[in-house]
Amino acid sequence: MILPVPIEPVDLAVVGAGAAGLYTALVAAAEGARVALVSSSPLAQSASYWAQGGLAAALGPDDTVDLHLGDTLAAGRGATSRRMAEILCTEAPDRVRELERLGISFDRSPAGDLLLSLEGGHTRRRVAHAGGSATGRHVTAQLSELVTAEERIDVHERTSALALWVEDDRCAGVVTEPVAIPAAATVLATGGAAALWQRTTNPGGAIGSGLTLAHQAGAALADLEFMQFHPTAVALEGELDGFLVTEAVRGDGALLVTDEGERFVDELAPRDEVTLAIESVMRAGRRALLDLRPVDMHAFPNIVERLSRAGIDPARDLVPVAPAAHYMIGGVVTDERGRSTLRGLYAVGECGCTGVHGANRLASNSLSECFVFGRRAALCAFTEPVPLPAGSPPATGPPAMPGEATRAALWSDAGPARDAGGLERLAGDQYPLARLIARSALERRESRGCHMRTDHPALDPALDRSHTVVRGADQQRQAWD
Ligand SMILES: Cc1cc2nc3c(=O)[nH]c(=O)nc-3n(C[C@H](O)[C@H](O)[C@H](O)COP(=O)(O)OP(=O)(O)OC[C@H]3O[C@@H](n4cnc5c(N)ncnc54)[C@H](O)[C@@H]3O)c2cc1C
Repeated sequence: MILPVPIEPVDLAVVGAGAAGLYTALVAAAEGARVALVSSSPLAQSASYWAQGGLAAALGPDDTVDLHLGDTLAAGRGATSRRMAEILCTEAPDRVRELERLGISFDRSPAGDLLLSLEGGHTRRRVAHAGGSATGRHVTAQLSELVTAEERIDVHERTSALALWVEDDRCAGVVTEPVAIPAAATVLATGGAAALWQRTTNPGGAIGSGLTLAHQAGAALADLEFMQFHPTAVALEGELDGFLVTEAVRGDGALLVTDEGERFVDELAPRDEVTLAIESVMRAGRRALLDLRPVDMHAFPNIVERLSRAGIDPARDLVPVAPAAHYMIGGVVTDERGRSTLRGLYAVGECGCTGVHGANRLASNSLSECFVFGRRAALCAFTEPVPLPAGSPPATGPPAMPGEATRAALWSDAGPARDAGGLERLAGDQYPLARLIARSALERRESRGCHMRTDHPALDPALDRSHTVVRGADQQRQAWD
């Protein structure tokens, strides 16, 4: 058992140093808050650092907030919260401008116009990027530098949150080893859970630990059945397996073909469609190949570099691809200011769940979500008058970690296509979050977006706008507007 020692209280404890955590900490500090930023991984292991495509925002001369909203709603397959999507699409352009003011250089043409990429499901070029396909690296590097220089933020690096400190039905801080941090408000920014699946594009730490912490503390989780699979992760033995090739390459002309050279899908369809098309090619015993030869790959330097390390020349070779677990749409239920159902606890970025992505996240809406909702949470969390804990922090043990058997089970039983038999098996897994995912996926007896049930292949209109919410042992359906 770990008996953590309480340190000086802070206004805000932020758990996670990806895009959402770094930015939330900076916004709160700029308002005058004293912040503790806790991160288990070194910088290069956050999903944000790996982000390639960029941030979706209606910034092009032919674009509008309404068009971005329309694409977001269409991708979400009837499960998107329109209210949250309106907030995202309206505020995303301002967040891009603000990031520029914070020193992030988004790519521009020689004439000074913002260069915007086209990605799947978008009807306009609207993805702002930095350093070509190295957007995440540029964004997190600059935000980390600002965080380090900000004297109101104390960084606790290589430190894991082990539990939330709950007192009188409110979150009163966070427990780490070796210290407990009392905080007026605690913000989870712990990222997603895609690394629970065997085949993944995510860094190994993306195991949904924030979801587990929130669930243990009594906060509600939702939409756990919606794991988005990215259609084009490299499918090769070895280190490159699972490496993501951004769909911006398809926006620039890359084609998907079978090993017999046939095109089989609209390359710019939303992710769920492309994923299922690739799965069906593979089930027929063929391979899906990404043909990058039509693309000017100068805009994607990190992809060229990674492929060349495996002896692949995109100007000559076709790249075998297959779906991989990529983005956890579900998470800690929050309102439009990042507030969870437990007082004093907030969640932002991939670990939060506002319903903004519906059943299928529109490409590059997630980084925008980190900044739009991160800012809202920071402003709200700082002003809320929440008392500090009176008692001692709870003693805690090391967190349960998912084993290889769990990762294999999630891939085989809750992969891009699932059915009741596999999900019932998974519902007995030893890893608690895997069981919650299985229960949520079992409960949704339809196919919608990234949740494809082979035993219930049709979308059920009665479940439009409905979300599977889990709180403690309770599971219920809620309609969100
Ligand atoms: C390869 C790849 C490419 C992508 N490309 C894009 C893109 O182009 N556009 C886009 O919009 N989205 C993209 N995404 C998705 C996007 O990157 C993520 O959704 C987003 O970066 C999540 O940011 P975050 O801050 O919420 O979490 P993360 O960036 O995952 O950061 C989570 C942080 O929490 C820390 N943490 C976790 N658990 C604990 C704990 N218990 N205690 C302490 N710290 C903890 C981690 O160490 C890490 O610092 C991509 C994802 C991947 C994997």
